[in-house]
Amino acid sequence: LSTLAAQAALAASNAKLYATAEIGRQRLEAVLNATPEPVLVIDEQFRLLLFNEAALKVQGLLLSPITGRPINEAIANAELLEMISSPSRESLLTRELALPGNSFYLVSVSPVQAENRQVGKVCLMRDISRYKELDIMKTEFVQMVSHNLRQPLTLMKGYVTMLEMVGSLNIQQKDYVKNIIAGVDNMNRLVNNLLNLGRIESGIALQIEKSEAEKVIEAVIRSLQALAEQKGIKLVFMPPEQNIPEFEADMALLQEALYNLVENAIKYTPVNGRVKLSVEPRPNAVVFEVKDTGMGIAPLDQQKLFETFYRSAKQDIRQQKGSGLGLAIVKSVAVKHHGDVWVESQLGKGSAFYLSIPLRQPKNKEVIE
Ligand code: ADP
Repeated sequence: LSTLAAQAALAASNAKLYATAEIGRQRLEAVLNATPEPVLVIDEQFRLLLFNEAALKVQGLLLSPITGRPINEAIANAELLEMISSPSRESLLTRELALPGNSFYLVSVSPVQAENRQVGKVCLMRDISRYKELDIMKTEFVQMVSHNLRQPLTLMKGYVTMLEMVGSLNIQQKDYVKNIIAGVDNMNRLVNNLLNLGRIESGIALQIEKSEAEKVIEAVIRSLQALAEQKGIKLVFMPPEQNIPEFEADMALLQEALYNLVENAIKYTPVNGRVKLSVEPRPNAVVFEVKDTGMGIAPLDQQKLFETFYRSAKQDIRQQKGSGLGLAIVKSVAVKHHGDVWVESQLGKGSAFYLSIPLRQPKNKEVIE
């Protein structure tokens, strides 16, 4: 009798536990379904554990919306599958995904930890199609304006330069002409930068070729040596200690990105400073480093440097001419190569910018969407 009673008590407590767990599950499901953003939950065996109604409505996301299926049978998008299967254990992965029907989602995949071990992953998706559309409109507008500004600027520069040829100018007039030319040159630089940024962002075809790090660096040094010398800055290339493997990249774009980094380093380093270029191999990438002994960058500025038009508000920075587009171009070039760019800096001591380019670029992806 006592054995039977003990078993009955165990069964009753199990039933109670089950009921509690079931209530918890139903609550979680209700919360997920009330969430307007698509959510997917994956267990540690990479099976689709839960998804909400918003996820069901996303075109081209789920192959078969049945819980318990392995993710490669349940999820249709290859890029999302790759994000979920990536081995990163602690960190949050965030990426933009283009899905059928011209929709864009900002997807973040984060590991779920319980009792110090990973028990699965949660994937959150935010619909950013509207922002993307606005961004494209903005890019097209800027492109159109800068394109149309190019011709009148060339015309102005031409006529101003010719003024001296058609009659003699007095000293004051010559001074005015010099100022006009400097102004037109500044506008030209801005327009060219805007066009370059637009070109890179709006999907030009990358001309991928086998590239050698030292060649790119030497070309950049050659074109900026004079500027460095004018300011009494030592511009040096530190030859790598290890062999740098050949890598795939668009040489012209990579050169432009490095040029911008070195030009900045010269610009924001006081007279008699030093700018050092180096390159290092990493397991699947090459990393370029541009290090200066300049004024450095405040931590608050470091977070925003790579945004279009961002310039530090510091007085000594503002004294230098600039448009806030150079680093935005570097970032675009890095992103288009599936690489990265980052900065380490200390105020008053100097900055080091790093540009990492993967050794291989995806096949058949030369044309960027
Ligand atoms: P610009 O130089 O035309 O202002 P960039 O996009 O090239 O635009 O740079 C953005 C800002 O980043 C600069 O205004 C400056 O504040 C900061 N910056 C970039 N490179 C350096 C550097 N090497 N040292 C210090 N500050 C820098």
